[in-house]
Amino acid sequence: MRRPLIAGNWKMNLSRSEAAALAEAIAKQVDQYPAVDIAVCPPFVYLEVVSRAIAGSRVALGAQNLYPEPSGAFTGEISPLMLCDLGCRYVILGHSERRQWLGETDGFINKKVHAALKAGLQPIVCLGEQLAEREAGLTLEVIRRQFEGSLASLTAEQMLQTVIAYEPVWAIGTGRVATPHQAEEVHLELRKLIAQRYNPEIAQQVVIQYGGSVKPDNAQELFAQPDIDGALVGGASLKADQFLGIVAGMKK
Ligand code: PEP
Repeated sequence: MRRPLIAGNWKMNLSRSEAAALAEAIAKQVDQYPAVDIAVCPPFVYLEVVSRAIAGSRVALGAQNLYPEPSGAFTGEISPLMLCDLGCRYVILGHSERRQWLGETDGFINKKVHAALKAGLQPIVCLGEQLAEREAGLTLEVIRRQFEGSLASLTAEQMLQTVIAYEPVWAIGTGRVATPHQAEEVHLELRKLIAQRYNPEIAQQVVIQYGGSVKPDNAQELFAQPDIDGALVGGASLKADQFLGIVAGMKK
């Protein structure tokens, strides 16, 4: 049985004290939602303060990136072991902003996914098509290519530890959310790809989130789709009431 996961991607936002206050406000209220797993993913520099703020609560800690080596001469980078040391459970990998602005390829993302899993972190692997690709009818082709590339060579056990976030690029930060039907079509395709590579039982167990302009007023209809297991939330995760409003939309 899949447990839905709602994770906040705080991106490069907030001050240290704002991050602590937001984490505390979320942690205080999560007990109302025992059927949903909840995570917050602050910037690296706030992981420790947020970890303290959520201590003893059901809120899990996630990071927004890692470098796929355990240690060494990689100036400015952060290793999977450092994230574990700070109490992270999740790490967001392959976000479209990193693919777009930092040139991350499926091959590099795949290295990060393996490094995360080796360290005991659960990767939240983002994939999704650009607007031009959707308009050209290439959505499922792009999804298949990103799935094969970013998630290459995972054992069945590793696949089960991995969360996939379907995030159509045209819906991220734009206020233009995918319709439940558009999202469900891709989620179903992802489950088919997992079933083909592994088996249908594994496909039924992998958590597949939707991401892209999720808000309290559109969450419920997205979550009502059979293959949507929660959300990766950007903008609306920066306000406790909005983030918890999205969590409240999960009634499955
Ligand atoms: C994201 O960046 O992962 C995201 C889903 O952003 P937003 O919710 O702001 O569209």
